[in-house]
Amino acid sequence: MIIVLMGAPGAGKGTQADMLTDQVGYRKISTGDALRKHVKLGTPVGKQAADIMARGELVPDNVLLDVLREEIGSNPKEVVVLDGYPRNLTQAETLRQVVEGVHPVRGCVHLDVDRSAIVERLSGRRVCSSCGTSFHVSANPPKKDGVCDKCGASLYQRPDDDAKSISVRLDVYDRSTEPVLDYYRQRGLYCKVNGAGVTDEIFRELRDAISTCLN
Ligand SMILES: [Zn+2]
Repeated sequence: MIIVLMGAPGAGKGTQADMLTDQVGYRKISTGDALRKHVKLGTPVGKQAADIMARGELVPDNVLLDVLREEIGSNPKEVVVLDGYPRNLTQAETLRQVVEGVHPVRGCVHLDVDRSAIVERLSGRRVCSSCGTSFHVSANPPKKDGVCDKCGASLYQRPDDDAKSISVRLDVYDRSTEPVLDYYRQRGLYCKVNGAGVTDEIFRELRDAISTCLN
């Protein structure tokens, strides 16, 4: 059974997906991670992807799908949370064809966060220049301004974390994923969870929404 987890950049999807894995035991598949894993292991599809990436090209949908197919496996009772796929309408339709009969998509859960809240989250983000730990100027500030708690190196703001770049990123995301949400809406599989607020509360709501989809 597949649950498609949707959420804009900065909506906290990664954190929530990890919690679903740790606390409920669902298996999370992120296409990016899966691709890196296959490249590293040198599987046939991983080699194919590595060749394409070595040429500086984007990994095409059919290769991505082969990776997904291998990762999803064939145990229909297992709950798989897909993170980062499908990202557009074509991928949603291909996913349906690939998993049909084996691993039905039982729900598309949308972690919904206000645009202004996302801009606030992302623009306040500060990253350690040495160890990569993330902080937030108001929600999760370092003990000493501009200095990493973990390693003492200086913090910086990623160049694409300014309000204007964030806005462009969100526009691009919305344009390609709105049709995906509609696609699942039309099939009665869409469910929205409010992604603003306290992480644990969001998690409870998300977990309940997924249980409802699976029943
Ligand atoms: Zn650090």
